Amino acid sequence: MVWEMRWHPLREEWVFIAAHRQDRPWSGDRVRDKEKELPEYDPECYLCPDNVRVSGARNPNYADTFVFDNDHPSVGLHAPEVIPPPPGVFRNRPALGIARVVCYTPKHNTTLAEMDRNGIVQLLKTWQQQYRELGSHPEIAGVMMFENKGEVVGVSNPHPHCQIYATSVVTKFIEVEERASLAYWRENRRTLFQDILKAEAADGRRIVVQNDSAVAFLPYFARYAYETYVAPKEAYPSIAEMSAGELVDFADVLRSVLVRFDNLWEMSFPYVMALHQAPVDGGDYGHFHFHIELYPPLRKPNLLKYHAGIELGGGNFLSDTSPEEKAAELRALPDVHYKLAGAGSQTGD
Ligand SMILES: [Zn+2]
Ligand SMILES: [Zn+2]
Repeated sequence: MVWEMRWHPLREEWVFIAAHRQDRPWSGDRVRDKEKELPEYDPECYLCPDNVRVSGARNPNYADTFVFDNDHPSVGLHAPEVIPPPPGVFRNRPALGIARVVCYTPKHNTTLAEMDRNGIVQLLKTWQQQYRELGSHPEIAGVMMFENKGEVVGVSNPHPHCQIYATSVVTKFIEVEERASLAYWRENRRTLFQDILKAEAADGRRIVVQNDSAVAFLPYFARYAYETYVAPKEAYPSIAEMSAGELVDFADVLRSVLVRFDNLWEMSFPYVMALHQAPVDGGDYGHFHFHIELYPPLRKPNLLKYHAGIELGGGNFLSDTSPEEKAAELRALPDVHYKLAGAGSQTGD
């Protein structure tokens, strides 16, 4: 049992780990699909092929990924440029940016966890193209790609998709990670994230799955019960620099993590997934190491991690599980999705 505070070097904050409290482990009931069966094509879905969106645009009959400009953008190239200046200490700026949606597949009723290697590789290539293209706009300083999955994180449309916010500012966590990585580089002449990977490899207890060029682990300083990082072993500022072979390895590791998430309680596991990539404002980001962070909000089936006093009020996270224990749980699960494993299969407990 772990009862200590752990330093989060990428966010520069302490995480409270209080896994000593006698919290009974999950007894093993499966949540097994109260999930409703979905059709492969939904005529009402604005993301399905050939359907008309609110903007009046018709989706093409796409075969793998499909990218379009968000019809309800929170940032846009046409956001008002002349805005009234606020008084005194306050500051504002135009909500300049590009907001896009990426459909992973035409199949309405699948998820990233259930997609095959080729489909995931295709998505990774789409992310590469988007990072390059959006990064080439002079107005854009940061490209944030993220997926919100599941009703508990507010997603009403199950069609597998992610969003891209390409913004004229660098988002907060990237800015902090970049600052911390640069300071670490100046002090040690080593890449911070490389040293994290090295320490995780040396310990080994928090690694979920890995292959030649990619690795998935619960970081030592995880803030959520099942928080998982997926990274190439080589340091690249963004996904755009990764080779075709590395994309395949990365797809395999990402898929394996998501399958284990779903297999945990035999339910489609909700999460927020964020790609952490270097800013695109023309700076030198050779010390930045691209990775994906996955934040599953559940601690147990139907039990959400709430952001309460210490998180919202103090800005530090309290976790009542240890990443070592949760990584072992995920590691022990099969790598084949329960929906594909067939009736009567065991799920590794
Ligand atoms: Zn759909
Ligand atoms: Zn990060």
